[in-house]
Amino acid sequence: MLQRAIHSALRSRQGVSMPPQIDHHFAWQPGQPVRLTEFAVEVAAQAMFTIAPDGQILNANRTACERLEYPREELVGLHVADIDPLYPRESWPAHFEELRQCGQAIFPTQHRTRSGRIIDVEVSVSYFEFEGKEYCCSSVRDISEQKRAESLARLQHDVLSLVASGEPQHHCLNRLCSLVEEIVPQSLASVMLLENADHCLRFEAGPRLTDEIREAFEPLPPGLHSGSCGAAAHLKRPVLVEDTRTSPHWARLQHVVDRFNLLACWSLPILCDGGRILGTFAISHSRTAVPDECEMELLETACSLASIPIRRSKEQEELQQRHNELAHFSRVSTMGEMVTSLAHELAQPLSAILNFSEACQARLLTVNADGVDQIARYVDQICQQGRRGGKILARMRDYVRRTSPRKSTCEISRMVTEALELVAHELRHRNVEVRIDKGESVVVQVDRVQIEQVIVNLVRNAADAMESVASDRRILDIRTFFSDGNVVLEFADRGPGISEDESDQIFSAFFTTKPSGTGMGLAICRTIIEDHGGVISVSNNELGGATFRVSIPLVEQEGPHGPQNDSVRR
Ligand code: ADP
Repeated sequence: MLQRAIHSALRSRQGVSMPPQIDHHFAWQPGQPVRLTEFAVEVAAQAMFTIAPDGQILNANRTACERLEYPREELVGLHVADIDPLYPRESWPAHFEELRQCGQAIFPTQHRTRSGRIIDVEVSVSYFEFEGKEYCCSSVRDISEQKRAESLARLQHDVLSLVASGEPQHHCLNRLCSLVEEIVPQSLASVMLLENADHCLRFEAGPRLTDEIREAFEPLPPGLHSGSCGAAAHLKRPVLVEDTRTSPHWARLQHVVDRFNLLACWSLPILCDGGRILGTFAISHSRTAVPDECEMELLETACSLASIPIRRSKEQEELQQRHNELAHFSRVSTMGEMVTSLAHELAQPLSAILNFSEACQARLLTVNADGVDQIARYVDQICQQGRRGGKILARMRDYVRRTSPRKSTCEISRMVTEALELVAHELRHRNVEVRIDKGESVVVQVDRVQIEQVIVNLVRNAADAMESVASDRRILDIRTFFSDGNVVLEFADRGPGISEDESDQIFSAFFTTKPSGTGMGLAICRTIIEDHGGVISVSNNELGGATFRVSIPLVEQEGPHGPQNDSVRR
């Protein structure tokens, strides 16, 4: 670093080999002027050092001693490498040689205080000769404040950009931790989140966390004796533990302190607007340490930045939850209309069961060897019809009951067939003929109930639309096929189609042209399909009716909520 800085200084100061003020003060002017200059150097606001060609510190002024926390007699005699971690001892001769060549240089570096604290500094160094000997004199400006402001600005910019570009919560928080670790060297930054299921904290981010550390802490119940994070989550205020070996919060975690050498841990609670605890942001050290004003500001900034992606993802979860509830409500509300259909669907197997049972009874009266075989066949029929009735009921129950989405592997045309069974009677009753063109077999990872809900909605809408046309024209063509990495479902009816005005609105909630419509069906369909990473659209077909097109991606897609879909063509 010094070499680079010296080179650039050389370029900018060509021809200047020795700064004029050095000659002026020290060249052969003994007595008063020198003592005055010595005094001025001693009381200067910047840290000043005189350094020998071998890198040994020959003199340091008061500011240097105070800033580096050394008594003068200890600081004088140290090597530059002892106070500057970026200046290795072995490269000193080369640095000095360059300095000898260029005369002056200004460069940023770091100084380490006696207690190990790192300060960002800017060094202005000058080479000079005095009474036949070589020296350099450096004046050191503390630029930690400026660096810290830059780092905080970068931290905010980087994390907010990630959040704005829709990166998943985990990525945003990991980046935040990495940036904090860059600003506070040798620290370990982490974010824990409170899980609703068991009300325990678990790590969500922390690029330097090892599996062993995770296992040792997780799950962490909030509480006064659950380390800094558990206590911060419990108390809902910062818990800054300077020495984990003596803190009561860490008394029960001493085995972890020893094993991972976690000697200090500062944790802040991450709260939502209502004051509910979402998690914690923490910085740990392998040395005892208490945060200074700057570190405290960094902790607070990092904590409020962490809350942004966490809150966003919570809001998305809640929105998703509301969509699920709405979809559930919509399924339940259409159930009333489907009950007639259900009754008819069940009537068939029930009457078959009854007929076969009666036939059994009649046959039992005149039973012989042949009769036993026949009774066995009847009983077999009874079982089959019973199972069929059971399946119809199970499908209805599935369709209505569940609210939380659950993806499973489903064959697409089978889903169409099963969804149609739910409305089979209604379609027969309304004279709607359904023709299915199943393309090649495709399996997709979808929420079966939700996709069946979309199919039922589109089929019932098509039946509604075809009410106004002659009954021999009420034909609904359903096609399933594979196109451009998507599985596509097409529903083409022969109703009046959709006007240009309406086509913009039909997917909006509450838009309906039906006297008893809710206008929620297509809005829910769109939400469900978009949750699967897909698209739903409508256009008018050549027969004048409407064609609804649903396409769901087949390949695995990494979306904000992880993989969207994982599907296979057979
Ligand atoms: P609802 O069925 O309760 O009206 P939807 O959201 O399912 O709610 O449908 C919204 C509107 O879209 C319907 O009222 C109708 O005007 C129009 N629509 C839906 N499907 C069709 C179709 N296949 N043909 C013509 N118009 C349709």
